Amino acid sequence: MSLDGNDIRILQVLQSNGRLSFRQIAEKVKVSVPTVSSKVSNLERMGAIRGYRANLDTERLGEMSAVVTIKARPSDLSAVAQRLLEDDVVRQMFFLSSGRLMLICTFTSTHLINDFAVRLGEIPEIVEYDIANVIGVGKEEDRASVVPGLQVVMPCQQCGRQMRDHPLKVREGTEEIYLCSPACMNVYTGAPSGR
Ligand SMILES: [Zn+2]
Repeated sequence: MSLDGNDIRILQVLQSNGRLSFRQIAEKVKVSVPTVSSKVSNLERMGAIRGYRANLDTERLGEMSAVVTIKARPSDLSAVAQRLLEDDVVRQMFFLSSGRLMLICTFTSTHLINDFAVRLGEIPEIVEYDIANVIGVGKEEDRASVVPGLQVVMPCQQCGRQMRDHPLKVREGTEEIYLCSPACMNVYTGAPSGR
């Protein structure tokens, strides 16, 4: 779903400071407070805004991080990922096109890095792994880069297909349900298929 210029400005303003009030955002973007309110709730509902939280400084908190890459057979990768998702030291996990997993892990003490290496060694499906400790942080921004022309890509809530264009909407109470086609709409709403 395409975002207009005001959506983009609101995302930029909120990305740099998630604690601003709707009034403060309205002043910066030069739109009305109700416009901000309805646009923000729309962006939240579409999942473009995941939430609001404090941006903590890992190193200032005395923690250290490591970048971990893991190689496993393609058929084993999701099982490996599943086990690692439960590990508290794993803070971020990315599935790479190379077929590897990349993790950003954070440790509250150095001996925990060794403990984690031991746990990796105990996962039989892991063919190979590499742990590199982070020794300095050059840049650490949110991954989302807010530029004009952004679109929200949402899964159809009936078939799961990723939708870039204008989805069909159904209201369910206060919630909006997004669907990719009249066919999915019919299945979702339980309407007769017309034959
Ligand atoms: Zn669909």
